[in-house]
Amino acid sequence: MATKLKIGKCKHCGHPEYAWKKRIISTAVASLCKLVKMYDGQPIHLDVFTAKASDRNFNQLKLWGLVETESGGAQKRSSGLWEPTGFGIMFAKGEIRVMEYVVTKQNEIIRFDPPMITVRQALGKKFNYRVLMGMNRQGRRVDLNQRPLNLAVGPCGDGEHGESYYRDEDGSVSYS
Ligand SMILES: [Zn+2]
Repeated sequence: MATKLKIGKCKHCGHPEYAWKKRIISTAVASLCKLVKMYDGQPIHLDVFTAKASDRNFNQLKLWGLVETESGGAQKRSSGLWEPTGFGIMFAKGEIRVMEYVVTKQNEIIRFDPPMITVRQALGKKFNYRVLMGMNRQGRRVDLNQRPLNLAVGPCGDGEHGESYYRDEDGSVSYS
């Protein structure tokens, strides 16, 4: 998940210095999409919006400035409450791109590495962007309380791309 990079030598003793290059994690981005979809200005607890039951990687998005959390004052313990930043909202909505990689050394950011990627590229093939964002094929929002009518395997037949069918307010059926 992280690549060790040799970034130079210590000026004093000559021992090699290393940094870690990490890719933005698709599951964390999927959780961000759900957070942005649900967000109404109030912090939301991690348990409510994560794309998987326990998303231990979600806090990596802080490195990109996409999310912020309340640190709970003097206590180091996280409150578990998160909010998307304005940047995070724009990214989730597909309005801006981010660098795919971050390079850190002792938890300090050294730099971000290209390429620039969209939210859909960050999600990869494991997640369906429209379903995460509660949109139908035309990019309109659908009633999130509606359950998919059924699930079917997509035309590619590999079982990866299950398609969800929704009934819109006007009664028409759309799928994503
Ligand atoms: Zn040294």
